[in-house]
Amino acid sequence: MRVSLDEIGPDGLDLDDTVDVHDLRQALGPNAPFQPTQAGHLVAHLERLDDAVRVSGRARVDLEARCSRCLGPVPVTLDTPVDVTLFPKGAEPPPASDGEVAQDDLGVATYEDGEIDLAAVLHDEVFLELPMSPLCSESCAGLCPECGKDLNSGPCGCTPQQKDERWQALKRLKLS
Ligand SMILES: [Zn+2]
Ligand SMILES: [Zn+2]
Repeated sequence: MRVSLDEIGPDGLDLDDTVDVHDLRQALGPNAPFQPTQAGHLVAHLERLDDAVRVSGRARVDLEARCSRCLGPVPVTLDTPVDVTLFPKGAEPPPASDGEVAQDDLGVATYEDGEIDLAAVLHDEVFLELPMSPLCSESCAGLCPECGKDLNSGPCGCTPQQKDERWQALKRLKLS
């Protein structure tokens, strides 16, 4: 998943790579809230712009996330455009002066030791695109906060209505 700058010729470098599950797992990190389910695919063109390198193309990754309500598995397929400019570490452009725009949003990253780490590029792109709160279904009933039963498989014996009222009362207290 590493490309040396020397491999990028005057016409750039075209990549069409399968990224196996092991590499994807490493790219996403051990604590990622989702796991790759099959090999990913990266098609990209690398181009040198003085010291910077532009990586543009497309990445496809199949992941399994956890439903944010019931914690059940949610398949997520990302097929996302990639457009990142990598600068040598330490020579990246300063973040926008108002501080409101993160560098990630501008598709800016860094490289070190004359090598582009495509795993890191993939990591950034995938994290940016993943839904913040994946749901197994829009109508997912979630887990009972009291007994933990998966309410998609039927109601439990608890009385969530009562809980809700108490919670509302608590919120009113906090606001006053
Ligand atoms: Zn769910
Ligand atoms: Zn319950």
